[in-house]
Amino acid sequence: MPLGFRTIIEPFRIKSVEPIRFTTPEYRERALHGAGYNLFGLHSSDVLIDLLTDSGTGAMSAEQWGGMMRGDESYAGSPSFFRFEDAVRDLTSFTHVIPTHQGRAAERILFAEAVTEGDVVPNNTHFDTTRANVEHERAEARDLVISVGKDPSAEHPFKGSMDVDALEASIAEVGRDRVPLVMVTVTNNSGGGQPVSMENLRAVRAVCDDHGIPLFLDACRFAENAWFIKQREEGYARKPAIDIAREMFSLADGATFSAKKDGLSNIGGFLAMNDDDLAARCRANLILTEGFPTYGGLAGYSLEAVAIGLREVLDEDYLRYRVRSVEYLWERVTATGIPCVSPPGGHAVYLDAKAFLPHIEPLQYPAHALAIELYRAGGVRGVEIGSVMFGRRPDGTEEPAAMELVRLAIPRRVYTQSHIDYVAEVIARVAERAADVRGYRIVEQGPWLRHFTARFEPV
Ligand SMILES: *Cc1c(COP(=O)(O)O)cnc(C)c1O
Repeated sequence: MPLGFRTIIEPFRIKSVEPIRFTTPEYRERALHGAGYNLFGLHSSDVLIDLLTDSGTGAMSAEQWGGMMRGDESYAGSPSFFRFEDAVRDLTSFTHVIPTHQGRAAERILFAEAVTEGDVVPNNTHFDTTRANVEHERAEARDLVISVGKDPSAEHPFKGSMDVDALEASIAEVGRDRVPLVMVTVTNNSGGGQPVSMENLRAVRAVCDDHGIPLFLDACRFAENAWFIKQREEGYARKPAIDIAREMFSLADGATFSAKKDGLSNIGGFLAMNDDDLAARCRANLILTEGFPTYGGLAGYSLEAVAIGLREVLDEDYLRYRVRSVEYLWERVTATGIPCVSPPGGHAVYLDAKAFLPHIEPLQYPAHALAIELYRAGGVRGVEIGSVMFGRRPDGTEEPAAMELVRLAIPRRVYTQSHIDYVAEVIARVAERAADVRGYRIVEQGPWLRHFTARFEPV
């Protein structure tokens, strides 16, 4: 922020633009019907403001595009890999840095090598791909976020933190041998983009130490989490964000990472750890499906983009703008009385569909219905995080999810304030006729991660 001024401006100017396309309500109605009322099935050119995800949708910097030209595509030992490895090591200090094409590849490899049938993996809240990859190993993905983290309206500075007593109780219940690792997701994406405090990370670390269990971070949004710690946790106000991030990683034994989030890149990820044996097994697994350990399914130019992105994301002018721009949308929406997860998260605003559409049964998917309405009303695409995403148990039965949310994820460095003002207006318009919105039923679904491909019809 320019010193002495209140306006927080975008800390960049625009060098290259992409047109966005306006559609009519009739056109959108046809598009919805054709997509089986699943927003993942739309053509993105039919979406005006795309808040489906902040994953891989950010704008890269001139530095990153410049770095991509330097990308070296050697199969083995590319200098681009060593720049990538240096950037990850400089940040995390982990011994082994294994590049992957995105976060879920890191998860698949880690769980395939570290988890066996009947194990329990505790996490504050598993992200959908993380849960699916744990369950794919026939293990249990157990969410242990603090109870206030499950209440959308409860105010707490670190609503993403893990319930340390529940972690202790879980380890006591199933036995240390069935808990191969503990994970903490920073920030807690599925729980509203809420941060985890350093104090909580330290407490989780202490429990892991007592039982000799490794701790891994799901570090997709480590920089946003570091910024919240700087803003909200005692003793960190004067610490540079990069030092806070390093301290977070110093408390873990490894991490999975999607560079599509705080890597400020369109693709990429890594799995990093200190355990030599586990790393050797993970590299062998990597070669099977991803590629040689110095590229891991990525082009050399993508390794360059991630290496540069990892530094840019810790720029404090960027982080201040980032977190403030999400908070701005949250302020606009809550000012009109529309219920949101509060306080606002780091990468998204989460509309509370249970409170917004109380007349729709959980298993008629109120958050899904709300997401459809935002598209219908104004071409805005968000994503359901509720019973469509999480309501099906591994045995096929359905149980309502803890929260019914519509996530409006803000791509990094992409939309300006007027785009965000428009989104707030669309939400207000849907609110005016909330009572008329109806639920949905699923008519077709796949075996894993059904929300991506399911087809629906209105009830
Ligand atoms: C995005 C994400 C992942 C998976 O990363 P992909 O790059 O999409 O495979 C895992 N955990 C969290 C918290 C995420 O946000």
